[in-house]
Amino acid sequence: MWQSGAMDSAHVDSDLVNILFTEEQIQAKLQEMAHTIAADYEGKDLLMVGVLRGAVMVMADLARSLPCHLEMDWMAVSSYGSGTKSSGVVRILKDLDTDISGRHVLIVDEIIDTGLTLSWLVNNLSSRKPASVEIATLLRKPEALAMPIEPKYVGWDIPNEFVVGYGLDFKERYRNLRDIGTLAPHVYS
Ligand code: 5GP
Ligand code: MG
Repeated sequence: MWQSGAMDSAHVDSDLVNILFTEEQIQAKLQEMAHTIAADYEGKDLLMVGVLRGAVMVMADLARSLPCHLEMDWMAVSSYGSGTKSSGVVRILKDLDTDISGRHVLIVDEIIDTGLTLSWLVNNLSSRKPASVEIATLLRKPEALAMPIEPKYVGWDIPNEFVVGYGLDFKERYRNLRDIGTLAPHVYS
């Protein structure tokens, strides 16, 4: 039954088999990442680029953990693939509103799986002559390690499991969950 207030794992716990990271753990990790990012970008003009739609929560909380001036912009991309695997063929659905030439760009994402989407994005943004392009991601899966991309800021490395919550969806649901977890098999069928 729906209850008022924030959606936490208790509201959908029959759908989750395992909670990987709680809201508290996620916020602590983002604080830690923000601390490093703030030091690295000291005196620089930071432009954070969020990848819609999954990165909305990470962007909101990471940006608010940073004690410096920054700008936020967004891109939406779709990668064509067979089923759940992306192919590396990427189409821009929404481009940046900002001219990034000469800017220090930090791409913010929630998860790197194969890394195909982000590797395409880094190439695309690099061709626009920014001062720098780096990646911050909350989660990274093992396959991404085989890609020639090196996110400078990684929250956690996780096993090759499908996770939801905190921006991550299954059929557009569960994005508003405050924790991150894995779904029970009955949800898929
Ligand atoms: P890739 O790194 O394979 O190019 O694609 C990354 C994108 O695939 C993510 O931004 C996310 O939308 C989706 N994705 C990959 N792994 C997961 C997962 O475990 N759960 C969810 N909900 N989405 C995932
Ligand atoms: Mg994403």
